[in-house]
Amino acid sequence: MWRELQPIGRHPGTGGYRRFAWGGADLECRDWFREQAEARGLVYELDRNGNQWAWLGDPAAGDAVVTGSHLDSVPDGGAFDGPLGVVSSFAALDELRARGVRFTKPLGIVNFGDEEGARFGLACVGSRLSAGQLTVDQAHRLTDADGVTLPRAMEAAGYDPEAIGPDRERLARIGAFVELHVEQGRALDITGDRVGVASAIWPHGRWRFDFRGEANHAGTTRLADRHDPMLSYAESVLAARREARLAGAVATFGKISVEPNGVNAIPSLVRGWLDSRAADQATLDTVVDGIERAAREYAEAQGVRLDVVRESFTPVVEFDHALRDEIARILGADEDAELKVPVLGTGAGHDAGILSGTVPTAMLFVRNPTGVSHSPAEYAAEDDCVAGVTALADVLEGLARR
Ligand SMILES: [Zn+2]
Repeated sequence: MWRELQPIGRHPGTGGYRRFAWGGADLECRDWFREQAEARGLVYELDRNGNQWAWLGDPAAGDAVVTGSHLDSVPDGGAFDGPLGVVSSFAALDELRARGVRFTKPLGIVNFGDEEGARFGLACVGSRLSAGQLTVDQAHRLTDADGVTLPRAMEAAGYDPEAIGPDRERLARIGAFVELHVEQGRALDITGDRVGVASAIWPHGRWRFDFRGEANHAGTTRLADRHDPMLSYAESVLAARREARLAGAVATFGKISVEPNGVNAIPSLVRGWLDSRAADQATLDTVVDGIERAAREYAEAQGVRLDVVRESFTPVVEFDHALRDEIARILGADEDAELKVPVLGTGAGHDAGILSGTVPTAMLFVRNPTGVSHSPAEYAAEDDCVAGVTALADVLEGLARR
């Protein structure tokens, strides 16, 4: 499976993946998912929001056990974020068949569409739509950097944008959802474990900071006469680092657009996107408020106007405790034994987090010794990936039999 996925959307220069929702590489990955489903005799299903499903047994029976992840990527993403969960799902099913396991419940594998939000700026569009956490109007207004709206992009890819919307009936068939994911940090590397179980996803959000100054000639405008939004932006980047460090949180300006974007022009507009996450809501509020307050001060000092818009927000997600304990028990083998698997919090968002409001949900993490993610340096050793598949197979077997 890895050999087939490896070349799809891989940039020859950076070695990173560029699989953006509804684009060519994403569509190739989706074709691959369908082929994997059909090659295993699973029933392939495409839902109204473009999420792909593969079923063993009839999902209408309800209380289904579902696993899966996503196949799209961030710009120049690594090979594992997303695909490891999907590949492991198919591999775990193969393993369970080899073990001769007979399921009493339907088993599903899912590829959620547009998880990373790389193209339209909002993460987890497929699962948000299905869970009713994104309205059809909001989704129809999503626009990429080339001015292409989500509906036009879906249409161009051969999908029906008018069909999108909440899909509660489909989600109601799920009794438990387990997402396996490459770890996006080094906790497992530090504890020396191959596989961990998620406890919670930190609350996180994205904010857009528009600094508006005055475009002017870079050669002839006296420094004292300038209203340079780049200066206020740069000072705000430093403030973000400072506020996050003080609070034990994270805050990142990772994307910027500049107008007129000329090397010999003082900018008229600098638009920067802030991503911030913390272990709890109060801490996150403190960090973002602190950054905004500092940014306003810096802007005022330069005679620059600042508008701040919160573009997306996901509150803290506590994964289902009963399911998490059951999974830890399954993986720990002995009911009385102490947990053999570490339980970790994470600062990264996932479809599992979106679904957790509707469906009992859990996550497994596979060790990533570099701790790096959203980069070609993201890595998981083959032995650890195999341990992940075995753990996932054990969990699916345990859940499908309960
Ligand atoms: Zn992911």
